[in-house]
Amino acid sequence: MKTKYYLFALLLFIGIIISTYFIFTKNKMKEKELMVIKEQETLLPYIQNTTAYKEEYKSAYKEIFYNDFPTFFKEVNIFLNQSYTPDEINHIYTYLSRSNIEKLLDYDKVNLERYYAIPNFEIDKIDRYEEYEKEKNCSLSQAVLYVNIGLDHAFYTQIVEIDNKEDYTVLVNKYRSLNTYEPTDLVPLSYDEKYQLRKEARDAFEQLVSFGKLNNVFIRPYSAYRSYTYQQSIYNTYVNKDGQEMADTYSARPGHSEHQTGLAVDVWSEGFQEILESDANWLKENAYKYGFIVRYTKETEPITGYIEEPWHLRYLGVDLATKVYESNLTYDEYYDLYLK
Ligand SMILES: [Zn+2]
Repeated sequence: MKTKYYLFALLLFIGIIISTYFIFTKNKMKEKELMVIKEQETLLPYIQNTTAYKEEYKSAYKEIFYNDFPTFFKEVNIFLNQSYTPDEINHIYTYLSRSNIEKLLDYDKVNLERYYAIPNFEIDKIDRYEEYEKEKNCSLSQAVLYVNIGLDHAFYTQIVEIDNKEDYTVLVNKYRSLNTYEPTDLVPLSYDEKYQLRKEARDAFEQLVSFGKLNNVFIRPYSAYRSYTYQQSIYNTYVNKDGQEMADTYSARPGHSEHQTGLAVDVWSEGFQEILESDANWLKENAYKYGFIVRYTKETEPITGYIEEPWHLRYLGVDLATKVYESNLTYDEYYDLYLK
């Protein structure tokens, strides 16, 4: 009996020693963190004996952290003159990109605190964000995201030419054009040589098809790479048939089709001229395992401007496709939030 008590006492003692040790080291770490903050140097001693020094800003200089680059003093004075607080100025130099800072210097005073939690905001779009927020009565972060995509303007307006056309991550939509770009590493699909994809996407697609077969899903390609001129002829055919407004909901204008990247492929169920619902559902939940996403769903219509296309697969690579799949976002949104 007695040995049991001794054993219990011993365990209790060891437990107390271990927890004291952890509490002690944690406190030590906190002290260290505080020291770092204290040690961060303020601007005052650096600016004091220079021509940039302004007596009226003396107390502010004491609260602004010093940064070591040539135009820092001048910029701080501009921000103080615009009545930014030291806290806001510290935030600017800790979190904003250089290009955002430069735009901010030329901009009227912005209520920056509203944007502290929205890392994807861009200074030169602030007026558009606030207008969109009011008009749609949405959150500011939602407004930032949608305006960044371009959605405060009609589709196919304010178009920019894409600068990373070769990247597997390239974002193509109704605001971003590939112009007449042609990929250089197209290879034929084994199903039929007339269908081509870029090599990495081709290999992944063949694996996806094999993986499908193991799960009783039999798919085949019916459209893959499409050149600018080919897309142009398809689009024009649809416009002549249905009118431009209607054609725009299901066919991309030349330069704006993902098929032109050589990273998109449309699939039908084997033996059919369509994709069966069961196959479409399987693709939606499994294609990412081989690097593909189903790019246009019913829910994404307002953002992409395309009606549901359960047959259209876009290659992103396994890592990125998995992240996009798990995020439940359109690729347009994901790109703005995490890849820009
Ligand atoms: Zn397609």
